[in-house]
Amino acid sequence: MNKSTFLLADEIASCTKCPRLVTYCASFLGIENPKYPGFEYWAKPVPGFGDPKARLLIIGLAPGAQGANRTGRPFTGDGAGEVLYRALYKHGFANRDTVVDRNDGLALDGVYITNAVKCVPPQNRPIGSEKQNCLPWLIEELPLLKHVEMVLAMGKDAFDSYLRLLKLQAKIEKLNAFRFAHEAVYTFDQAPAKLLATYHFSRYNINTGVLTEDMIDKLFVKIKGMLR
Ligand code: SF4
Repeated sequence: MNKSTFLLADEIASCTKCPRLVTYCASFLGIENPKYPGFEYWAKPVPGFGDPKARLLIIGLAPGAQGANRTGRPFTGDGAGEVLYRALYKHGFANRDTVVDRNDGLALDGVYITNAVKCVPPQNRPIGSEKQNCLPWLIEELPLLKHVEMVLAMGKDAFDSYLRLLKLQAKIEKLNAFRFAHEAVYTFDQAPAKLLATYHFSRYNINTGVLTEDMIDKLFVKIKGMLR
């Protein structure tokens, strides 16, 4: 991270705009999950993480309760992260294929990862006002990442959040002109980065076969082929 992304990360981590999410985050403080003995939960907003010179920006929905909400780094410590970081390593975007916590030495090359909503939501479902409240953080993150050529939206919520951002910035007129579909790619006259959609790398999608390792491989081959 450069100084700016560090500063922004501190600001994000202190945000208290959504009372329901602040309360839910705080409910993880001081409890111990027997699966992770001695582990203190991060239990506050999780800022983005990665290479400030990223050409690929990955946007997820929100921190997982036992993943990023526990470790303080996007997609770290849960099933979705296992799949994502394995793929990033395989395709040359990360220096290791397994991630454990914020001090595991993971470094990303050409990739930055963030979430549309920075706080863990109950049942993994942020409400509309929370998505709206958090959008300004995404808006602040983007100009710090000056080399982004492609935004990979993980799931429809992340896809819609990025489109809302473009609409707020008057770069598109209507959200419903863009349909979410796995591997759908959109380019915009007013915005330099392409938007690529994928099913979320959630354990549920993997276990049910909605998303397979082959599909993920194909997705990253496509991404590498499209990056300059
Ligand atoms: S979800 Fe976003 S806007 Fe809401 S409290 Fe967390 S960081 Fe702040």
